[in-house]
Amino acid sequence: MGACFEAAQGRVLYARISRLQALFPQQQTQDSAIEPLRIPRAEHNISRSDISPATLKVLYTLKDAGYEAYIVGGGVRDLLAGLHPKDFDVATNARPEEVKRLFRSCRLVGRRFLIAHVRFGDEIVEVTTFRGPIGDSHDRDETGRILSDNVYGSLEEDAFRRDFTINGLYYDIRDFSIVDYVGGMEDMRRRTLRLIGDPELRYREDPVRMLRAIRIGNKMDFRLDPASAEPVKRLAHLLREIPPARLFDEVLKLLLSKDAVENFRALHWFGLWDELFPDLGAHHEIAPEQTRAFVEAALANTAERVQQDQPVSPSFLFAALLWAPVRARAEDLARGEDHPSFVALAQASEEVMARQGLRVAIPKRFSMPAKEIWTLQPRLEQPRGNRPQRLLTHPRFRAGYDFLLLRAQGGEPVQAQAEWWTQAQAGAMAPLPAAAAGVVAEEAPRKRRRRRRRRGGGAVPQAE
Ligand code: ATP
Ligand code: MG
Repeated sequence: MGACFEAAQGRVLYARISRLQALFPQQQTQDSAIEPLRIPRAEHNISRSDISPATLKVLYTLKDAGYEAYIVGGGVRDLLAGLHPKDFDVATNARPEEVKRLFRSCRLVGRRFLIAHVRFGDEIVEVTTFRGPIGDSHDRDETGRILSDNVYGSLEEDAFRRDFTINGLYYDIRDFSIVDYVGGMEDMRRRTLRLIGDPELRYREDPVRMLRAIRIGNKMDFRLDPASAEPVKRLAHLLREIPPARLFDEVLKLLLSKDAVENFRALHWFGLWDELFPDLGAHHEIAPEQTRAFVEAALANTAERVQQDQPVSPSFLFAALLWAPVRARAEDLARGEDHPSFVALAQASEEVMARQGLRVAIPKRFSMPAKEIWTLQPRLEQPRGNRPQRLLTHPRFRAGYDFLLLRAQGGEPVQAQAEWWTQAQAGAMAPLPAAAAGVVAEEAPRKRRRRRRRRGGGAVPQAE
């Protein structure tokens, strides 16, 4: 790989011109078109055997029909760095309808900008038509965010619309060369993540780029160029303009990742974390060390599972992230007059989840199980009745138990309970652990209370 970068360096003049262009992307016109840096096949390490068969099929089909076809973005970037790309994105001058005509299984998706999804078996290849330059025809909101994006363009124009220079490299299927308009090869060599163009303008156009900077920087272990890092703290608040559903996708990519802990720390440092999880931010000020340690332990756990190719659950992760505010809110509520603490916990769960949804929309299929994990905690803390082991068959038992372990690890006084459940699962019948060690107490189930009353015992619920 060294060779390809040296070759690229030899043509640094082109890259410099490209860099100038990168600074003034809006002023580009057809007249000012500049020859890109072209790295021939012999001077880079990307081989067709690294590319998925479906992607190759798409590229060749487009080429044979007379269109331009390139791999762009993460696929090129990761292969150059010797990593395995998770997928390949194709860019072409064919319009979406033209792409659709070429493939049997092709769906056009997206409202603002149509993208073709071409399916081969299990694999979907995303095919995007070159985007044109940002101009007056693009609607913006008052913060500078682009609201409409429907102008097609040339390869060169498309390159300047990409976010980072290392994401703006194109692998040309005609001659297997790499086309570089934006100085991406040089930044690969320098291991630098740099926004194309004016950083503040580019973040304002799409504030999600701040999150992408952190994710891609950590994934590649590249340094974020100081000029690209500088505006982030100032502009972090712009994330509030982003639809919560889009933020959910980005948050998952950041946190269900082998770099989860580093991503969390960087998000926190740049002030982005508090925009994504304001409740948790508020709680940081109350118990900063403990909350942070708990969140980091959960993320480290996730990262390890990702690295070992084990399944990871968004519900468990969100349960862990939001546990501190849920707990704090439940404690507040329980101080009120007639809130039994189990009810307080259930109410706190609803409140915190609903507020969180205003920033990062957690779909029901994840938020429901997360709430169940929380409300299982009192039952796990105080196993009781004739057969507490019945809880072992609860569909959410395993997640609830893992969560109890995490709490114990995080220093909450639930060690004995966690240990008891560990033994109960192994079939050992230890004496029930002492109650009231945990934070939340469970309201006695109504059914049983009634039965006891009928027996005339006037039973006091076991824990309230
Ligand atoms: P990975 O797939 O590994 O997460 P990626 O860079 O390929 O990383 P994608 O979301 O697949 O990320 O995007 C593909 C390409 O589209 C990017 O490499 C970049 O060129 C461009 N892109 C994606 N999001 C943006 C954005 N918000 N602004 C500008 N360009 C973007
Ligand atoms: Mg990608």
